[in-house]
Amino acid sequence: MSPVVDNSETLDALIVGAGFSGLYQLYELRRRGYSVHLVEANAGPGGVWYANRYPGARVDSHVPNYEYSHQGIWKDWSWSERFPGGAELREYFAHAVEALELGPDISFGTRVDGARFDEESRTWTADLSAADGSFTRRCRYLVLCTGFASKAFTPPIDGLDRFAGPCHHTAHWPEDGVPLEGRRVGIVGTGASGVQMVQEAAKVAGEVYVFQRTPVTALPMQQRRITLEQAAASKDEYPEIFVTRNTPPGSMHDMVRRGESALTASDDERERVFTEAWEEGGFHFWFATFADVITDLDANRLAYDFWRDHTRARIDDPAVADLLAPMEPPYPFGTKRPSLEQGYYDYFNQDNVFLVDISANPIHSVGEDVVELADGTRHELDVLVLATGFDANTGGLTQIDVRGSDGRNLAERWASGVDTTLGLAVSGYPNLLFLYGPQSPAAFCNGPTCAELQSQWVGDLLDHMQDAGLTRVEATEASDLAWSRHLDEVAEGSLLSKVDSWYMAANVPGKRRQLLNHPSSDAYLRALDRCAAEGYDRFVFD
Ligand code: FAD
Repeated sequence: MSPVVDNSETLDALIVGAGFSGLYQLYELRRRGYSVHLVEANAGPGGVWYANRYPGARVDSHVPNYEYSHQGIWKDWSWSERFPGGAELREYFAHAVEALELGPDISFGTRVDGARFDEESRTWTADLSAADGSFTRRCRYLVLCTGFASKAFTPPIDGLDRFAGPCHHTAHWPEDGVPLEGRRVGIVGTGASGVQMVQEAAKVAGEVYVFQRTPVTALPMQQRRITLEQAAASKDEYPEIFVTRNTPPGSMHDMVRRGESALTASDDERERVFTEAWEEGGFHFWFATFADVITDLDANRLAYDFWRDHTRARIDDPAVADLLAPMEPPYPFGTKRPSLEQGYYDYFNQDNVFLVDISANPIHSVGEDVVELADGTRHELDVLVLATGFDANTGGLTQIDVRGSDGRNLAERWASGVDTTLGLAVSGYPNLLFLYGPQSPAAFCNGPTCAELQSQWVGDLLDHMQDAGLTRVEATEASDLAWSRHLDEVAEGSLLSKVDSWYMAANVPGKRRQLLNHPSSDAYLRALDRCAAEGYDRFVFD
């Protein structure tokens, strides 16, 4: 049950979203003495981890990177696995809320539908809805912590609503689960959620049909269990780890790209570096080998070939291997998000798992119990899983009717392309800030790192204004333009722009193709620091 909200008070800040960002922002502003409240549409904390309950949902960032650095939270918390699963993460978030005593300042089951700014009082009025009705809430600052993945994307497939059996997007998986045992399960999409879903379905389903448009370059997770003794012993290193993680180049304390080139390293040296990263597991093979793997096509090719050879060696059928790990790269390695896998490729050797290539022969339509392809091939199914990703980066923000000074909401404002200042604010929307937003590093930055550093930055900004007696802050148009140009230049200089991906806003029809995540959290964090040190020169105050 949501707490009763006192509508007569104008809050200093209203925060939207109870994931890593929103919870930390609440803690950060409250500790500085601001009156602040958080509203969350879901019935509990955790953000993406509350919503994504599909079988096998699991992080790709190893602990302790993927947790808060606050000692009050980690001192009494021990993970059981190096890459924790969704259920453990939900328990972790409940623990974090309790440890920081955030509960009284959160209304769960409460959605923000819209908000408008009143210039005279310099306040936002937010329209909220909950099970017990609609109401409004006034605040000086509106801080949207809605994440990059709070709006699921389902491609327009003819007849999807005709499917009679369970048919769910992975981000809307029912809390009670869906029985897969012995059933014919179709999984559309082979990104991170698709990979994880396949691994679980392959263990129990009668038949699994994996509808693949583009192969994923999944990397070995190298999962490990963590005993209580190991967890306790590792905590001696936590303070140092978190300082490293939260300081540029930061993001992941133990993943730093080497300065040297893959092209000039000797064959032996290159093999050693690639092998060590492979065996370390996680994203080491993506983020911690040679500097030019993500900037130079020839260097990138060397990484792809290593990945391809190690992956193909596990797949029995050469025709399946050609689809899962083609001899020629379907795109430069790492320009689409490499998922982490635990046996993904081996499952295709089982006689109940079938790969369906929908790149040349796409899905034509869905019927009551069938997916039909363009050439008329029919796959009869009992369960249909849509692992089709998100309206990433902007969907969470544009689905809220937040009206700026000129009356336009963010969907209208960004209809022909996104512009922001530092991925945190946008001109025309005074006293509005967003965390983990478009044009911030988000998808390229470890979630908790971004949450903590941006929350602190917002706290510092509010302190700066309070100390100077200021009540209105707005990003300048020139600054939006400069930051958006900077992102475009970064895109041009990297291999990311060569490929259609959700980083490039290319997975949802109608979105302008542009880089929506800054690939260097190092450069980004330095830009944040510089902006603050120079008196927040990208903003105008009053
Ligand atoms: P979120 O966790 O997305 O939280 C946003 C919250 O806002 C949600 O709870 C949502 O319900 C709420 N909300 C949205 N709109 C409204 C509204 N109008 N009214 C009220 N509430 C609203 N990152 C990593 O660094 N490492 C990983 O391994 C990793 N794995 C991931 C796996 C999956 C399946 C997904 C989807 C994402 C993953 N991410 C990962 C990225 C992840 O989004 C971040 O790590 C982090 O969780 C972002 O936290 P957040 O608080 O910014 O956003």
